[in-house]
Amino acid sequence: MLKVLEDLVVLQEIDLKRGALLREIGDLPNRKALAEARLSDRRQRLTEAEDAWKKNAAAIKEIEVEIETLRQQIAKMLSQQYEVKNNDQYRALMAEIAGARDKIRALEDREIERMEESETLKAALEQVKAELQSDERETAEAVREFDARDAQLRREAEGLESERAGRAAGIEPDWLARYERILQHHGDRAVVPIERQACGGCHMKLTPQTIQDARRAQSIVTCGYCGRLLYWKE
Ligand SMILES: [Zn+2]
Repeated sequence: MLKVLEDLVVLQEIDLKRGALLREIGDLPNRKALAEARLSDRRQRLTEAEDAWKKNAAAIKEIEVEIETLRQQIAKMLSQQYEVKNNDQYRALMAEIAGARDKIRALEDREIERMEESETLKAALEQVKAELQSDERETAEAVREFDARDAQLRREAEGLESERAGRAAGIEPDWLARYERILQHHGDRAVVPIERQACGGCHMKLTPQTIQDARRAQSIVTCGYCGRLLYWKE
């Protein structure tokens, strides 16, 4: 195998590693944002659960005020019973008192229903709270991990950068430029082995002459279809 091809294969390994690192670095902010969005959803659910519980508590309070008002009205009417002038007035007063007591009973039934609902809502609220707490811990942990991973990947990328510079310095500039052009064009590999008589990059079948030339390794051979640099792998 030609020395320049050997050098380019090594350089390509570095470039592939570096490309994978850069892709992961580029993807980290998305993954972080996703974890934070999940947390914000859970916070929204907590607000909704709190609102539902508060709304129900306010409704209970309202019923209690209504009951208290009716009780005061009854007490007032009871105190008036000795002041009535005739039986008709007395019956009317008693009917009004009975009506107020019926209303109180109906309100008390509603209050019991609301109180039962309150317990259900409170339990749901506590559950969302607990879930949020564990989500907050997990998200904080995940964000720390993403940040640590980001720093580690950047260090690795920097290491590869200087390793690449060292390797590239030993390669003839024309070949290096050609390698980089092919790599940029295809986005994956510029130097590929011949595999089952076909190009290892585009997988098109190569002519016997091309294969023969690559085996002889006296000059650089390119794939006639994709332009990648070919080498023979024993
Ligand atoms: Zn090809």
